Amino acid sequence: MSIKYICCECDKKYDPKTLVFRCECGGLLDLEKFDFIFSKEDILSNEWNLFRYLKTLPFDDSFNLWKDLTMGEGLTPIIPLEKDNPNLLVKVDYLMPTLSFKDRGAVVLISKAKELGIKKVIQDSSGNAGNSIAAYASRVGIECDIYVPEGTSSKKIKQISSHGAKVHIVKGTREDTAKAALNAVENGEGFYASHVYNPFFYQGTKTYAYEIYEQLNGDLPGSLVIPVGNGTLLLGCYYGFKELLDLGLIEKIPKIIAVQAKGCAPIYRAFKEGKDSVDEVTNTGTLAEGIAIAKPMRGKQILEAIRATEGEIITAPENKIVEARKYLAEKGFYVEPTTAATFAGFINYYNANNSELDGKVILPLCGAGLKKD
Ligand SMILES: [Zn+2]
Repeated sequence: MSIKYICCECDKKYDPKTLVFRCECGGLLDLEKFDFIFSKEDILSNEWNLFRYLKTLPFDDSFNLWKDLTMGEGLTPIIPLEKDNPNLLVKVDYLMPTLSFKDRGAVVLISKAKELGIKKVIQDSSGNAGNSIAAYASRVGIECDIYVPEGTSSKKIKQISSHGAKVHIVKGTREDTAKAALNAVENGEGFYASHVYNPFFYQGTKTYAYEIYEQLNGDLPGSLVIPVGNGTLLLGCYYGFKELLDLGLIEKIPKIIAVQAKGCAPIYRAFKEGKDSVDEVTNTGTLAEGIAIAKPMRGKQILEAIRATEGEIITAPENKIVEARKYLAEKGFYVEPTTAATFAGFINYYNANNSELDGKVILPLCGAGLKKD
């Protein structure tokens, strides 16, 4: 499929083969809209991975490189967290090949990179996305450089390097890490397999929505609780539900309740101030490193998505994260602090607004606790 990138600011189109990662006007690149037909009958029901939704992905029907790449990602369980509350559901998205939800985006992005004939990819990450890109790149023989900030969990670094990727540890902030990776890309060292810049990543995370649609047999939740830093899950999930709405398969997109860490909440601030764009904040420190993004590049799109669902944005109290992690472990789920923060934020909100929550709520368990030292 010769799909093009399209600038979100000026609509200029680019061929993904050119390795461009940003418009010359400075705008971020989205994918141009592509038409597809999809209903339940189009699910490839014998594929136990997210390519069962191949019809909705930006590949030709004849595209089959993914068969060399898939490791069974996706199709994660949706189950009640506790027996007394059947409406509070968790989607166990850490049950993935590299133990985080990022495999959704990585498998689609690396499939596309392979289709484009890419030999080397570059990525920057606080850990999980780097793990995921490194694993899938290795699986199809693409060279991989991953940039991580100093202080990244040694377990994550070990996992990334075990896949044969070169790990660059960058001093300074998460933003300094992103700059170092961008410099390498601008020097022509490789294809920017960024979960922030590259729109193919969101084509993978959108399967989160298709799975909920299939698994609940169309009986959708009233609300989706989603942690937000760079917005990779939030935007993908929104795009998926928007497509289902446009296809006439659902009547309404569930309300998105986004969760940020209190110590680094630029999107929360912009939302509460009624702004359309997000100003950079100072990260004052949080255990929820996976969502501690001081300057979210797709902040404007994230705000639009939350507002389009008549959603809400809340913060996670820092002093409740450890307690929430323990609570989830008592229920059988050992999760990363970022996931615990999502739960902590939601419980505050849930206790204050219990009577207003309409129907089922789904909260993702995004990363496995074993990844953290
Ligand atoms: Zn542009």
